[in-house]
Amino acid sequence: MNAHDGMYIGGEWRAAAGGDTIAVLNPVDEQVIGHVPAGTAEDVDAAVRAARAALPGWAATPPAERAAGLAALRDRLVARKDEIAETISAELGAPLPFAQAVQTGLPIAIAGSYAELAASYSFEEKVGNSTVYQEPVGVVGAITPWNYPLHQIVNKVAPALAAGCTVVLKPAEDTPLTAQLFAEAVHEVGLPAGVFNLVTGLGPVAGQALAEHEGVDLVSFTGSTAVGKQIGATAGAAVKRVALELGGKSANVILPTADLAKAVNVGVANVMGNSGQTCSAWTRMLVHTDRYDEAVELASAAAAKYTVGDRVGPLVNAKQLARVRGYIEKGVEEGARIVAGGAEAPLEQGYYVSPTIFADVTPEMAIAQEEIFGPVVSIIRYEDEDDALRIANGTVYGLAGGVWAGDEAEAVAFARRMDTGQVDINGGRFNPLAPFGGYKQSGVGRELGVHGLTEYLQTKSLQF
Ligand code: NAP
Ligand code: MG
Repeated sequence: MNAHDGMYIGGEWRAAAGGDTIAVLNPVDEQVIGHVPAGTAEDVDAAVRAARAALPGWAATPPAERAAGLAALRDRLVARKDEIAETISAELGAPLPFAQAVQTGLPIAIAGSYAELAASYSFEEKVGNSTVYQEPVGVVGAITPWNYPLHQIVNKVAPALAAGCTVVLKPAEDTPLTAQLFAEAVHEVGLPAGVFNLVTGLGPVAGQALAEHEGVDLVSFTGSTAVGKQIGATAGAAVKRVALELGGKSANVILPTADLAKAVNVGVANVMGNSGQTCSAWTRMLVHTDRYDEAVELASAAAAKYTVGDRVGPLVNAKQLARVRGYIEKGVEEGARIVAGGAEAPLEQGYYVSPTIFADVTPEMAIAQEEIFGPVVSIIRYEDEDDALRIANGTVYGLAGGVWAGDEAEAVAFARRMDTGQVDINGGRFNPLAPFGGYKQSGVGRELGVHGLTEYLQTKSLQF
């Protein structure tokens, strides 16, 4: 794989301040596919300065021109989509069809949505004797995870640029090559130097330096709740804006009137996609006691269709593999019953985990409470609707969920009582314009659509 040995700062690839590098692995065969520089506080500082220098010009650029820049960026991503998908497949291990359709196609659509929003959004309104202006917050520090390498970058960079902000990105150490390709696309568009800057590096070094930098006005972070809490505390102490997209333990609630086979099959598919490395995955399946055994059988049959290797890729790295296996072992120790998969390595090479279904899971077990981030579904029994709601709302998280019922109104009534940011009704499909983000410890703020844009704006009122 092609890798740059520098940072993209101020519109050019510059040598890194230090000499350390990060090896990028392909989790399918554990081979090194490239090296990128490990950024230091010095690189972060140079990038923040470049972003700050570019801010007045970009903030003053008419929204229609910023929109044209984003449309051109979308077109560059389209032109290089095969290379992007191959890169994501290589550094994340995602099977190529998934890397193409979801990992690449979705963020391209989102980049396009922000080209349209930048052009159509009203950055100015009249309220009585005032004119209220929506102005860019300033320099954005974006810190992204590896699970959807391009999507997580576009979710932050596209609305930030649409709003008139400038950006410094610190991508995940496991997937920096996709971030470098994104920087190349920005460069090809010819956006003004310093509007977008990239510093590859390790979280506790480059990430922390970016989160703590005085020249950053807003930190947007997606990743683990543990790191998110730290970033939120740092930002709070500096009275700095912060957006946090953290973990989830979302419930797929199958009400007694639902089409059980469909609800179970879609529910299992929802978790197996991206090998369970999706923050919004429906990792808890809630089934009424009368239909529990039937649901368990359907789920184990569904899991068997997800062959490891071709349909289900590996986990991103050895640490995630150990973590997910640890949770599977813990589930067994806590008394849950494995009906598909298990902790044994399914292949000789690569960080693979078998699609795993647990039955007899009770709400207080670790596998029902904690984010596993692997292809593991916990099926939990409920007695009645109030019990289902208590279980659904009974974790620290609240990112997503599903509700299935014979009658749409019944599903909607239940969904309105859930403490969570998104709910799909009877398999409603993902909407890239709908606000995405968490209740409770799943985060602060929203991404996507207009709500994602306003995160990067602050208001100024002039009175007449
Ligand atoms: P993570 O450590 O929170 O990583 C997310 C991003 O934050 C990465 O760019 C990371 O850099 C950076 N980072 C790490 N420590 C930092 C610090 N002290 N200051 C600033 N930035 C820092 O997540 P992970 O270790 O990759 O995954 C662990 C768990 O997090 C997963 O098992 C999963 O439960 C959860 N997770 C959630 C999401 C989500 O979409 N909500 C995504 C990924 C992971 P490095 O890449 O160098 O670590
Ligand atoms: Mg980490």
